[in-house]
Amino acid sequence: MLIQENRNLLIVDDEPEALEGYRQFLAPPDRPGPRSSSRREGSAAAATPHERETYTLFLASSGKEALQIFQRELGKGNEIAAGFFDVKLGGDMDGLQTIQAIKALSPDLHCVVVTAYQDRGVDEIQELFGEEFKDHWDFLNKPFSQGEIVQKARQMVAAWNRRRQLSIMQKQLVQAERLSAVGQVARGVGHEFGNLLQRIVGKVDLALVAHADPAKVKDHLETALKACERAGTMARNLQSFARNDMTRRPCSIASGAEDALTLMHHDLNKGSVTVVRDFREAPEVNADPSALGQIFLNLLINALHAMPQGGKLTVTVSAADGGPDKKPGVACVVEDTGTGIPKDVLDRIFDYAFTTKGEKGSGLGLSISRGIAEEHGGTLTVASQPGRGAAFTLWLPSAGNP
Ligand code: ADP
Repeated sequence: MLIQENRNLLIVDDEPEALEGYRQFLAPPDRPGPRSSSRREGSAAAATPHERETYTLFLASSGKEALQIFQRELGKGNEIAAGFFDVKLGGDMDGLQTIQAIKALSPDLHCVVVTAYQDRGVDEIQELFGEEFKDHWDFLNKPFSQGEIVQKARQMVAAWNRRRQLSIMQKQLVQAERLSAVGQVARGVGHEFGNLLQRIVGKVDLALVAHADPAKVKDHLETALKACERAGTMARNLQSFARNDMTRRPCSIASGAEDALTLMHHDLNKGSVTVVRDFREAPEVNADPSALGQIFLNLLINALHAMPQGGKLTVTVSAADGGPDKKPGVACVVEDTGTGIPKDVLDRIFDYAFTTKGEKGSGLGLSISRGIAEEHGGTLTVASQPGRGAAFTLWLPSAGNP
């Protein structure tokens, strides 16, 4: 999917001539957009190749005004990709403080620190902004040339848009992998539906035949109703696993595991896998249920693959402290009695695209599952004895301790 390129730039300088200079360079007046009292300068809509170099500028003469503009635009869903920030500004905030305040709202921001003096060293600024922001900022001394400004604007806008595109593609990949996991169980779910339907039809038939005996009719209809309910649960689980709303809410890990087990029921049964559940009292976690479902489906599908001759699958849920700070949370262990994982493979199973299944595997399941666990503030780890099986532990902080 291609998203529309973001060409919004914030310019912060307390000298009106400097602002005018930026405007001349980045949104030349012969191609002006609508000028409004909000000081928003627009690019022309017509697109000749030359005009692609035009940006939509938001001009501010103080840090406070810059912050207000940024917040206002963010509120409208109009993100500003990058900015030029003069270090020395009149008012309460200097350029660096303004950047700090804005990047707290939008860590994706790219910026150029502009200074007339060598008053702030690069190392000092680096320390102030922190390691994670180091690819997001650049430095420019006044006076600057049109070439420098245009070049920096181009680089920042390109970097912002590349990052955004990548993040969208990553989300799409996670969703594609989720649908692939759902696809892998769809056959089994189809069989299960068929069996349930057969049971329902059979029991309703029997109820019709037994019409003279109300106790029998009731018995048959009750069994049919149970089968209907199970089919309904499976349909809901399938829908919920395929959903992509990414909203988090307090939910139970045990029900997530149970939902995945329900969808896998036919395949596990057919593969002669005995399922043992050990679900103990545990707090809720704050999670996106479909993302949790994705982790469980991956773990169960892998366990099934690892037990081609059948075996035992034990799913344990219990309250457990975890993470680097030993926070209260919930651990879910999915343990199989399958092939196990050799030592040299064990170190790589969470790597992106690592698979031992050749064409049949994508190698994305565990890397994406670990990513989901970590996004939720949790962990996904493994222990294995080659030849005896593997145990994957998903730990998530409890909803009260994110
Ligand atoms: P894929 O299943 O497509 O290969 P995954 O990321 O889910 O991708 O798994 C990566 C690799 O980890 C698998 O190819 C397999 O070698 C190993 N693996 C995962 N789960 C198990 C398990 N329960 N038992 C043995 N090996 C496993």
